[in-house]
Amino acid sequence: MTETADVVIVGAGIMGVSTAYHLARLGVGRVIVLERDTVCSGSTALASGGIRHQYANRLGIELTTHSIVTYERFREEFGVDPHFRQHGYLILIATEDELATARRSVALQRSLGVDVTLLDAAATRALCPYLNTDDLLGATYTPRDGYADPYLCTTAIAARARDLGVAITTAGASTAPTAVVTPRTRSPSRMNPSTSCPCRISTPSSRLRRASAGMYSSGSL
Ligand SMILES: Cc1cc2nc3c(=O)[nH]c(=O)nc-3n(C[C@H](O)[C@H](O)[C@H](O)COP(=O)(O)OP(=O)(O)OC[C@H]3O[C@@H](n4cnc5c(N)ncnc54)[C@H](O)[C@@H]3O)c2cc1C
Repeated sequence: MTETADVVIVGAGIMGVSTAYHLARLGVGRVIVLERDTVCSGSTALASGGIRHQYANRLGIELTTHSIVTYERFREEFGVDPHFRQHGYLILIATEDELATARRSVALQRSLGVDVTLLDAAATRALCPYLNTDDLLGATYTPRDGYADPYLCTTAIAARARDLGVAITTAGASTAPTAVVTPRTRSPSRMNPSTSCPCRISTPSSRLRRASAGMYSSGSL
């Protein structure tokens, strides 16, 4: 049997299911996710779950600034508690070099609207009395940061994507694909489901490229 799709996504980690979900919300057409194992069986499942604003580059800060809103209202949007705990991130500063870097990063983060504080050693100790600050110059602190459960997040987003009509094919499915044809590869690319999906994915219209870019800049995970 031959199936057609407007978008084929390879891999059902956080990137794959989030992309599928956002594209389905944007109404780009039929979206299929091909996963050689199970949903969230790759590196997402091994992540420690940290979510932080404390990057030294604009892109990382802006991505978190948008995506943290998703985690804060995750239950509302996806119907699952992702165990998002905003205990804050504290990055310790031990040397003058680190202090100079921290000052630059804090200035950049603040310019992008992040709630971040540069603490001296005494203030760090006051915040974390159990911490030995004898050899510290201070720390940077972002109270809104924290961690969530990557597995819960990924499976919840996958479920919502399915609700929106996304088909997620995992290993062992009776409908597992054996070949994929894209606008660029008119002859079928044979698939070996036990190893990899060799399909070459293209976004045939500029509309889809714009949709993907919009998703990244508007706060996907
Ligand atoms: C809530 C959260 C917190 C995080 N916190 C941290 C953190 O504190 N520190 C950190 O370093 N990172 C963190 N991460 C990021 C994480 O470590 C990974 O980098 C990220 O989740 C990778 O997602 P991915 O979808 O790109 O890859 P993956 O999760 O690896 O998914 C790729 C999927 O593609 C499938 N696949 C691969 N090739 C094929 C093929 N040829 N055919 C079919 N299927 C294929 C795999 O089986 C896999 O399921 C976090 C992620 C989340 C969601």
